[in-house]
Amino acid sequence: MDNSVIIIGAGFGGLSAGCYGQMNGYRTSIFEMHDKPGGLCTAWQRKGYTIDGCVHWLVGSAPGGAMPGMYSLWQELGALQGQQVIDLDYFYRVEGVDGRTFNIYSDIDSLEQHMKELAPEDARFISEYCKAARRFCRLDLPVDKPPEMYTPFEGLRFMFKILPFLGDLRKWSRMTMKDFAMQFKSPLLRDAWQQVWPPEFSSIFILMTLSTLHQKSAGYVIGGSMKLSRAIEKRYLDLGGEVRYKSRVTGILVENDCAVGVKLADGSEHRADYVISAADGHATIFEMLGGKYINEKIRGYYEKLPIFSPLIYIGLGVNRSFKETPQIVSGFAFPLDEPVVIAGEERKWLSVRIHNFDPTLAPEGKSLLTVMIESNYPYWDSLRHDMARYKAEKEQIADTVVALLDKRFPGLSSQVEMRDVATPVTFHRYTGNWQGTYEGWLMTPATVNLNMKKTLPGLDRFYMAGQWV
Ligand SMILES: Cc1cc2nc3c(=O)[nH]c(=O)nc-3n(C[C@H](O)[C@H](O)[C@H](O)COP(=O)(O)OP(=O)(O)OC[C@H]3O[C@@H](n4cnc5c(N)ncnc54)[C@H](O)[C@@H]3O)c2cc1C
Repeated sequence: MDNSVIIIGAGFGGLSAGCYGQMNGYRTSIFEMHDKPGGLCTAWQRKGYTIDGCVHWLVGSAPGGAMPGMYSLWQELGALQGQQVIDLDYFYRVEGVDGRTFNIYSDIDSLEQHMKELAPEDARFISEYCKAARRFCRLDLPVDKPPEMYTPFEGLRFMFKILPFLGDLRKWSRMTMKDFAMQFKSPLLRDAWQQVWPPEFSSIFILMTLSTLHQKSAGYVIGGSMKLSRAIEKRYLDLGGEVRYKSRVTGILVENDCAVGVKLADGSEHRADYVISAADGHATIFEMLGGKYINEKIRGYYEKLPIFSPLIYIGLGVNRSFKETPQIVSGFAFPLDEPVVIAGEERKWLSVRIHNFDPTLAPEGKSLLTVMIESNYPYWDSLRHDMARYKAEKEQIADTVVALLDKRFPGLSSQVEMRDVATPVTFHRYTGNWQGTYEGWLMTPATVNLNMKKTLPGLDRFYMAGQWV
């Protein structure tokens, strides 16, 4: 039997491909350039703090939500067994310029009531939107198979399942977050909704997210991102899989248009019956395969589709409990007294995540804070050639952010005992993701329904997995 598989990358995509390969009788080996699993789903230690670098909410942490099948997937992957999962009442909070506070509650009924109190003039749209969110609680999007692999019968079954939701899916997936926000007459809600997600993002995702939060199936796993990644790594190893860390793949070996193995940075070659790349899509197609197996459609993705803007990711260890501050899944945003320039761009708001819901990330009585600021890759790429300037820029950003937070939380600057700044270049260096992006393709009205093939034209025995497909 042809059953050996080489997988490139031990992020969630690669580890999952490895687990399912093992469960289905293949002999798999993962080659990972880093010395740990997780890829983007990671964390790092600084001065007694754990800077969690990823997961905010895990869709499928319990049965229910718009994709109930996700829960079974996480169970099969060993991600949830024995984990403590918490569901928070607040998803996001925005303090408006008028001094009022808008809470995005995880519970749809509380959110509806709260929005109507804040903006009675928007009652009609609020009702319409909350009704749609409640309808989405009954949606059951299958996740067990990619749609392009459906048999005609499975295709029909899928259509039958989504038929009652077709109107909602069309309407909300075509609306951007900016257009969604503009539906509100209230300046507070208009401003607030624009802080949650990028303006081009499709508004269907707030409905999906709210329906899963409402049903308590988008929880947070105590211990954070690395705990999740280690759990899936353990499942993979228990299934008999093998991970080779510090093994950077530089090329995919091809013979007669068949993938036959990989070449590593140390010059060694490793062969298998199949190759799966769960590494960055751009690097896989244009570097590891030299751009040889591509068509106009795939080239078009990489030339035209928008990606999530990469992040400046600031971690702060603060000697303060933040016990009095509500526990919020995604953090909260507040307007600045006056605009500041960070990494060459003017900013009028700051959003901070206070990890006061996870005591494992900071010493007792202290807290981890993280701040995510969208930036652009070329800016940082040009700086990194001058290390002194690159480091100075990071220091200056940390100073600015601490000063801004100090205004909102007086006394904070004297309580900061750890500062760490990761840039888009850091994201690229540690995970290989193109342009340092952190979630791959941005889900806009134009891309939300895209089904990307997991194969490349003309290349046999080769598959792609992970966020780029
Ligand atoms: C701040 C942040 C918040 C997020 N929040 C959430 C959230 O709340 N919920 C959610 O679902 N998602 C969230 N995401 C997104 C999610 O983490 C990613 O979409 C997901 O982890 C991507 O997994 P992947 O396996 O496709 O890719 P990656 O994680 O990028 O894994 C690719 C792996 O391949 C390895 N690799 C790359 N090139 C090579 C090579 N040449 N040789 C060997 N190995 C290589 C990399 O080192 C990496 O380990 C967030 C991401 C970030 C950064």
